[in-house]
Parts: sequence; C-alpha cells; structure tokens
Amino acid sequence: MIRLLTIAAAAVLLPSNAWAELCPGNPHALGTERTLTVDARTMPRIGHKEFAGSLPLRDKELVLTFDDGPWPGTTPKVLDALKHECVKAAFFLIGRSAAEYPALARREVAEGHTVGHHTHSHALLNRLPIAAAEAQIDRGIEEDELALYGRRSREPSTPFFRFPGFASTPALLDQLRSRNIVVFGADVWASDWNPMTPDQELQLILARIERVNHGIVLFHDTKAQTARMLPAFLRALKKGGYHIVQAVPSAPRIAVSQKR
Ligand SMILES: [Zn+2]
Repeated sequence: MIRLLTIAAAAVLLPSNAWAELCPGNPHALGTERTLTVDARTMPRIGHKEFAGSLPLRDKELVLTFDDGPWPGTTPKVLDALKHECVKAAFFLIGRSAAEYPALARREVAEGHTVGHHTHSHALLNRLPIAAAEAQIDRGIEEDELALYGRRSREPSTPFFRFPGFASTPALLDQLRSRNIVVFGADVWASDWNPMTPDQELQLILARIERVNHGIVLFHDTKAQTARMLPAFLRALKKGGYHIVQAVPSAPRIAVSQKR
C-alpha cells in the first residue's frame, strides 16, 4: 500500500522542469501529465453535461477534446499549438472530412493524439430512423478508419464516439455500449459555436473551468476563434496550475486485429 502511494505521489509530483526534457524547444511547456485508460465496460458514458458520471479526474485535471474536424483552415493551427506545449488531446472526426483530408487526420494520430468518431456528416441522430442513425455512425467510423489506418472497417481502432449536438437516444446508447464503444459527453465547453473574439472565448472558458475544477473540455477545431485563442489558453492553464490528462482506449484494437 505504501509503495502504491509512493508511486502515485511520484506521478503527481513530477518536477515542473521535467517537461524541459520531454518537450524539446519549450522549457515552459504545459505538457501532458498522464494518460487515463477509458473502457466502455466500466465507463460507457462520460461527461456531466449529458450523463450522470464522468472521468475519474483529480483536482485541476483536464481532458481536452476537439470536434468536427479535420478542417484545413483551422486544424493545423490547433495541432501546432498543442505540439508547442506537448499537450495530447482527443479529436472526434467527421467521416466525410476525414475522407476529404486524410493527411490531416493522420497527422493527429502521428502526433500522438487520441482520435475518435463523430458520425459521417454530423447528422443529429435523434431525428433519424434508427437504421439511418446507425448508418451515420458506421459510415463515419469506416471513413475515419480508412483515412487514419488505410483499413476499411466498422470496428473502430479507438472505440470513442461523441454524438453531434449530444443528440443521443437510449436505443443508440445501448447499441454503442453493446459494441464496447465509449460515448464521450463533456463537463465544460467554450460555446465556441457562438461568434465571439478569441479573447472573449478565452475569458469565458477559463471562468467556466475554474467553476468545474476538472473534467472534459469541449472545443471545435473547425472554429477560427478557438484555433487563435489556443496558445494563450494553454499558457493560462499552465499558469493556473492545471494538468492535462489524455484519455486513451484500453487496448488499441488495430493491433489485436492485425495479430489474427
Ligand atoms: Zn460536432
């Protein structure tokens, strides 16, 4: 028990200059504190905005997520900002955009981010017949898998999904659970679908994060104001004593399927 506590304490008390070695070119980087394994068998639905529970995060720990990309006008700036701070995030892709911009989708994987799924064309699935909703989910996964890994499959390598507009239904939630796909909600968002300046967005999201203390943060990497405020946002998190956690799947399924 004491040994376990010592290991846990060591993980928390990583010296602040450790990132200097881990993040070349930026001795003041925010960095990524740790990864957190997320498995549908124990955490099928996460995020207090929509669901009862969320990730088991500690004080001032944040998971950064970006929806609706990849988009050439803004996603590269988001990736640049994350790379500069050695921050790993999660991206939820639109399948048809991944099909159109596969190199950009692959850059997200190559730079170590978690890449999940967000349907084929961002349809609000609670407004569709269930067969059409399922087709939106499956087509999106297939387009993402093909863009990211060159394999045509409806079995997601990273079994993470987010409903467009959080428009879930009980039947679709049950179906995703039976497929062991984690449904990501959010604990706090920047409301970046509303027009505002980068500075307004920065102040808004920092105030909201201070209120929730820890959780899953939702942005859109398709929004210019988000891409523009991100460098200042990451610096502000560092100054405010926040820590970044990367949500990762329990086991990369692509490795399993290749072994067969
Ligand atoms: Zn979306």
